[in-house]
Parts: sequence; structure tokens; C-alpha cells
Amino acid sequence: MFYNQTVVHRTSYLSMLEQQQTRRIAIFGSTGSIGTQALEVIAANTDKFSAEILTAHTNEELLIEQALKFNPNMVVIADEKKYLKVKDALSSTAIKVFAGEKALEEVAAIDCYDLMLAAIVGYAGLRPTLQAIGIGKPIALANKETLVVAGDIVMRKAVESRVPVIPVDSEHSAIFQCLVGETRNKIEKIILTASGGPFLGRKPNYLVNVKREHALQHPNWSMGAKITIDSATLMNKGLEMIEAKWLFNLRPEQIRVLIHPQSIIHSMVQFEDGSIKAQMGLPDMRLPIQYSLAFPRRIPNQFPRYDFKKINTLTFEEPDIRTFRNLALAIEALNRGGNLPSVMNAANEIAVYAFLRNRINFLDMTDVVEKTMQKISFIEKPTLEEYFSSDGEARTFAADLIQL
Ligand code: NAD
Ligand code: MG
Repeated sequence: MFYNQTVVHRTSYLSMLEQQQTRRIAIFGSTGSIGTQALEVIAANTDKFSAEILTAHTNEELLIEQALKFNPNMVVIADEKKYLKVKDALSSTAIKVFAGEKALEEVAAIDCYDLMLAAIVGYAGLRPTLQAIGIGKPIALANKETLVVAGDIVMRKAVESRVPVIPVDSEHSAIFQCLVGETRNKIEKIILTASGGPFLGRKPNYLVNVKREHALQHPNWSMGAKITIDSATLMNKGLEMIEAKWLFNLRPEQIRVLIHPQSIIHSMVQFEDGSIKAQMGLPDMRLPIQYSLAFPRRIPNQFPRYDFKKINTLTFEEPDIRTFRNLALAIEALNRGGNLPSVMNAANEIAVYAFLRNRINFLDMTDVVEKTMQKISFIEKPTLEEYFSSDGEARTFAADLIQL
């Protein structure tokens, strides 16, 4: 059963939203690529949305600027050293200021907002999101790592709390949109499209010399550094396969990846009768962000439109998983399940961090992930605590491997 839309229609979600004048949004990770674009959407629709909570890791200047502009109820700066600076800058306002990683979880558990936009990058986004689900808050989910690390527990909690998890990731938003009105119909398979990244068609002898600056140039999307590197290695698509498994309750063999360099078809669903639905548009994250905030409504905007005359050829090809081995590793993690996706994710976060600091080369990232996946003990049905400890062990092992 396709859980998310069922829950939206069966529960009080719609009536709750309709009663409210404006939807109060808690943006976790407001200073990032997704966070800043979400604030653009909010600024253009102040009659529909307000920013209730804003959080940042280290960028206190942007957090202060955003707080002064959007006047949220509270802000959190995860880096405690920056607390006094934020507090001082906002002292003439009524905005409450908190600091530290624990504060992210505590603030997520305060019943003062209508929807959390989970836009922190990496494993750090998991705990605040679990808190929000725990108090029954719907989630607009950008942070795919949350589902990669502990998708079974996160989705089970969402079912128990009867809250929808509305995807922001463009591929999953596309699938979600294709599934509107299809709750009774079975999915044969989904097809996640991938641009292929900046190194599409390249071979290992080229990739071994790729530098950070080169890998950070994505052909179609402008995103944060971590996901841009993941897109260049195809790990992003692997994470997205696992994300899709949990969001749409699919078996691994129902999830396919297809390279589509133009990034116009954002993903597709094939139903039991063989019919395929696709969602299309220009690659612009503001669209899936706006859809997740306004769901189930569509609201007008001034974003550029896709012009069939300008981009009149859409092409497709199979991914090269012998060259981009991260995708093969992710498929293995998807198939075996248990704690393997969380181990893979942790090793990948360390590997990307090291690559971004020029400590290892492009192909080393895959070796770090593979060796860590081989090393850490497999647990078939981990508890939440076991997911946390697998994450920690994998990080330590991967960091030792590259002498970070
Ligand atoms: P980003 O690096 O631009 O921003 C990340 C945000 O998280 C920032 O606000 C940062 O302050 C905060 N943050 C980082 N580490 C933190 C920590 N340890 N504790 C607390 N806060 C922390 O990243 P992004 O590109 O906006 O991506 C955010 C998430 O959305 C990722 O999971 C990514 O995979 C997903 N996503 C992004 C895009 C995109 O277009 N950028 C598309 C699809 C999915
Ligand atoms: Mg995506």
C-alpha cells in the first residue's frame, strides 16, 4: 500500500491545514541550498507560509540575516561557539536563540509549527526529524540520508504518528506526484532518472585525476557540496534508490535507474498495466520544495517554464555501474538491507568530506565505502541504537583508513 497519500487523505491532515491561515514551517538547515530556496518560496507566498524555526550549522551570518528578514519564533545555531554572536544580533527582537546539536532535537520537539522541512545534510538530520515525527508533525523530506540510515524505523514511526513524509528530492517528488489518485493501483516499477553528473561517459583512467573543483561543477543542478559530489560518483542515485524503497514501500527489484542527461523527466512510475506516468519540468528545486510545502495544493509561481522547442530531444541510457561502482555498492546495500545502508552512508560521508579537503582522490571514495561495508558486522534487523552504533563504527573505520 502506498502509505503516504493514504495517510494524508485518511487523517486530519487536510482539515488541519485548511483551518490555518498560514502554514508555519520549521526549516532545519535553512542556510543550505534547499533551505535558502525554501525561504525564497516562503517570501513569495507570505499569505500561505511563515518561517517558524530556522537552524544552521556554522553560518551564523546568514542565519542572522534570515532571522531579521523572516522573524521566526526561534533559531538554532548548532555550533555553540557562535551562540553569543547570534544572541547579540537578535537581542532587539523577540526571537528565541538556542545553540548546540542537542538543541536541534529539543526545538524539533516543541509544538509550535505545522510542518518540518528536513533540509540538514547527512546523518545529522536524522534525530531532529525523528523528534518531529514523534510529536506528529508532517515532514517535507529533503534529507535523504535519514531514510538511508534508518528508513524502516522512520517510516514505522510516521505510520504510528499518522504523519505524511512528503519528498522534496526531485525524483521522489516526481514519483509522489505520479501516484496522486493511484492509491488502489499497484506499482510494477519506478524509474529514477539521473543526469549522470559531470563525468558521464568517462572511464576510471580519467576519473582518477578528477579534482574537487571539477567534481563540484554539476551540469544541470546547483546544490550543496556533498550532494554535488554524490551526484558525480552516482552515490546520490544509490542513496535515492534506498530512499525510494522506504518512501514508496517497494521491493529492490522494482527500483530502476536510467540516465537522462537533460534532467527534464524527473522520474517515472510504471503501473501493472504497463502504463508509464512521468513528471516533467525544468531542473529547479524550488518546484519540488514548493510542492512539498503546499501539498496537496499546487500554487502559482513565476519560475521559468520548460520550452519543448528549446530542449526538443530527451535521451536515455543505462548507468555504467562498472565505472561508477558506488552505484553497484548501493544496490548491494539496497538488496541486503539491515545496517548495510547506514554503514555505506557513514563511510560515504567520511569519504566525501576527505575528497572535498583534497585528502583522497575521486576513485578512493569508492574504495573507502567498499572496505567499510566489508568490515563492519552485518545486522539484519537493527534497533535504532544499533543503527547509531553502526554509523559510529563505520565512521571510525573509514576515518582510520584514510588517516583523517
Ligand atoms: P547544504 O550543504 O547546502 O546545506 C546543508 C544545511 O544543513 C545547512 O543549513 C547547514 O547549516 C546544515 N547542516 C550541515 N551539517 C549540519 C550539522 N552537523 N548539524 C546541523 N546542521 C547542519 O546541503 P543541501 O544541498 O541544501 O542539501 C540538504 C539535504 O537535501 C541533503 O540531504 C541533500 O541530499 C538533500 N537534497 C538536496 C538537493 C539540492 O538541490 N540541494 C536536492 C535533493 C536533495
Ligand atoms: Mg535527487
